[in-house]
Amino acid sequence: MISNSLLLIPGLPSIRFIDIVDIAMVAILFYELYKLVKGTNVMRIFWAVIIFYISWRIVDALNMRLSSEILGQFISIGLIALVIVFQPEIRKFLLLIGTKTQLDGDNVRKRIQFWKHHMNNAKTVSYDAYVQACIHMSQTRTGALIVFKRQNEIEEIARTGEAIHAKASSALIETIFFKNSPLHDGAMIVQGSSILAARCILPVSSNPNIDPNLGLRHRSAIGITEQLDVISVIVSEETGAISYAVGGDIHHNVTPIELQQYLEQNC
Ligand code: ATP
Ligand code: MG
Repeated sequence: MISNSLLLIPGLPSIRFIDIVDIAMVAILFYELYKLVKGTNVMRIFWAVIIFYISWRIVDALNMRLSSEILGQFISIGLIALVIVFQPEIRKFLLLIGTKTQLDGDNVRKRIQFWKHHMNNAKTVSYDAYVQACIHMSQTRTGALIVFKRQNEIEEIARTGEAIHAKASSALIETIFFKNSPLHDGAMIVQGSSILAARCILPVSSNPNIDPNLGLRHRSAIGITEQLDVISVIVSEETGAISYAVGGDIHHNVTPIELQQYLEQNC
C-alpha cells in the first residue's frame, strides 16, 4: 500500500502524496491559463491579479491587519468581478470550445487560436470608415444615424430594418444614407467594422429636457441609448453637425477627431 505521507522532514509539516498531485495540478492549470492569455489583452489583467494576490499574501504574512483585511475583501469578490468583466470573452470561449460534441486535440487548438486572434483584434477595430463617412455626409448635408452595438443584444431593433451584414466602408455607408437610396431612412446598426442592418426604427426619447430644436433623428438617437448600452452617432441633415449620444445624453456638434477618439475608446 502507498503511504499517503511521502516526505517527513523533522521540523516541517509532512508533505503527502496528494499534496504533490495538488501542486502539480495547480501548476499545470496556471501554465495552461498563461499560455491561453499570453499576448492577449487579458494578459495585463492576469498580471494585475497575480500582483494583487502576492501583495495580499505578503501583508497577511506580515500581519498587517487592516491592509490584509481590505485586500482580502477584494480577493473574495475578485473572482465574481472577473467573471462579470470578462463575460463576453468567457461566453465566446465556451461557445467556441463546446460547439461540437466530438473534439479532437487539433480542433480545440484551432478554436483557441481563433479566440486569441479575436481577443487581440477586439480593440483594434478601425472606426475610420465611419468617421470619414460622417465628414463627407456632414459636408453634403446628408442626414445619418448610426448605432454602435457594444455588449448587449440589439437583434430586436435590427429586425425592424433590413439585414445587411457587410464590412463597413465609407463609400457603403454614404451610399446607404444617400437621399435616394431605399435604405437611407432610419438608423443603421453596426458592430465593430460590420454593418448589421439599416433602415431600423429606434425608440424615441420622451425626455422633456432635450433641446426642442432637435427633431426625431436626434430624439431617437438619444432614445435608444436610454434603453441599451449603445452609442449613436448623428449627422444632421439641416446643419451638417455631427453629434453622438450615449446613456441618454447627447454630445452635440463634435469634431471628427473627438468622435473618432470616443468611438475608439468606448466601443
Ligand atoms: P436633422 O437635423 O437631420 O433634420 P432632426 O433631429 O431634426 O434631424 P428630423 O428632421 O425629424 O430629425 O429627421 C427625420 C428623419 O429621422 C427621418 O427621415 C428618419 O430617417 C429619422 N427618424 C425619425 N424617427 C426615427 C426613429 N424612430 N428611428 C430611426 N430613425 C428615425
Ligand atoms: Mg430636422
